[in-house]
Amino acid sequence: MSTPSVPSQVPHHVIPSYLNHDNLGPWGVYLEQIDRVTPHLGSLARWVETLKRPKRVLIVDVPIERDDGSIAHFEGYRVQHNTSRGPGKGGVRFHQDVTLSEVMALSGWMTVKNAAVNVPYGGAKGGIRVDPKTLSRGELQRMTRRYTSEIGIIIGPNKDIPAPDVGTDSQIMAWMMDTYSMNQGSTASGVVTGKPISLGGSLGRNEATGRGVFVVGCEAASKLGLEIKGARVIVQGFGNVGGIAARLFADAGALIVGVQDHKSTVVRSSGLDVAALQAHITATGSVAGFAGADEISDRSQFWGLDCDILVPAALEQQITAENAHRIRAKLILEGANGPTTPEADDILHDKGVLIVPDVIANAGGVTVSYFEWVQDFSSFFWSEDEINLRLTRLMREALAAVWQLSVEKKVSLRTAAFIVACTRVLEAREMRGLYP
Ligand code: NAD
Repeated sequence: MSTPSVPSQVPHHVIPSYLNHDNLGPWGVYLEQIDRVTPHLGSLARWVETLKRPKRVLIVDVPIERDDGSIAHFEGYRVQHNTSRGPGKGGVRFHQDVTLSEVMALSGWMTVKNAAVNVPYGGAKGGIRVDPKTLSRGELQRMTRRYTSEIGIIIGPNKDIPAPDVGTDSQIMAWMMDTYSMNQGSTASGVVTGKPISLGGSLGRNEATGRGVFVVGCEAASKLGLEIKGARVIVQGFGNVGGIAARLFADAGALIVGVQDHKSTVVRSSGLDVAALQAHITATGSVAGFAGADEISDRSQFWGLDCDILVPAALEQQITAENAHRIRAKLILEGANGPTTPEADDILHDKGVLIVPDVIANAGGVTVSYFEWVQDFSSFFWSEDEINLRLTRLMREALAAVWQLSVEKKVSLRTAAFIVACTRVLEAREMRGLYP
């Protein structure tokens, strides 16, 4: 059988407008990353268009009755980007800036991430454009349940398994699991991960993403000859990912010298007291006003802070062509998804900054989500030590494989991770063939 050649360009009229490069935003960044890896995919490149089109996009209206009796409508999404290697898997984001472009990009990165660390999932993502801080607990629950019912037609333990992301947590997962189960008529704990332990959640899941950032951070630092003890670390975003990663780095003797969140930026050259900062955030919702640090008013100064390691752990497209020149870190660990634009990637590469890309650095969360899903299916639960050991081993192996390929092919860790992942996804696609 002869191998058909790669079409040089798919005719423009067959590309839905929302899939276009010109459609700026995170999806454009994702498409650019796929374009960059395509020349490395050999004969599998003929399938690459698969990665540039989500398999399924669902947009839902989420109406709720507010506490004051008025009716509010929110726009929700669930995108199943690819299911060649297994069910869709990816978080749900509640944030006022959620767009379809963002959810599509995040779903594409999930496909790449799950393949990069070789867990048997495709990629998916969901979200609602809402500031959850403006809702009462009752309103939040009603919105979560209605959204779950609306996307219930495409999710399921063997179809697509949501998890927490920005603005969602284990309580939201509990409501999602309960709503789906009520609609099905039986308890389906495997429909979401990141659940409370009492509902089939996994030990170690809450910390897993931050722990994964720390594990790959230690590995990458040792390759650079950088000691963690005494290393100066700055962190953008101090939530589930950034807060836990910062604590683990501080426990290992690093100095957390700067933290930025949605409200403010705090710095302390001798190192912040991470536990005290965490307590302040729990009490006030932000790093703003933390007594144990100086506050800087110009947010952009965060990027120029003197440090060895930078952990972006907030939102996408934070490191851009505008601020990449100012970054002084030797090592960047992408806790967030898509924090670096392709232009900034090039600038940092030229400056000799090592970037451990999101699809490896923050894969600890989905890895322990996978462990949770397996435990739910077998109704047999592992110890936290066992989970952390397996997580650490899997993250180290994933980084080592990507590192070796990056050396062999003389490409960045991001390109190497995309080569490993896209090859796995497209091999599965090719082996399965097209139906009908
Ligand atoms: P979170 O909601 O727990 O925390 C988000 C943090 O980012 C908060 O500290 C918030 O103040 C800060 N933030 C929000 N907007 C900001 C802005 N404009 N500038 C600076 N800081 C800002 O969210 P999380 O779960 O920690 O997720 C953070 C990132 O990590 C996201 O990109 C998410 O997709 C990614 N991620 C999360 C997980 C997970 O398991 N939670 C897994 C993989 C990747």
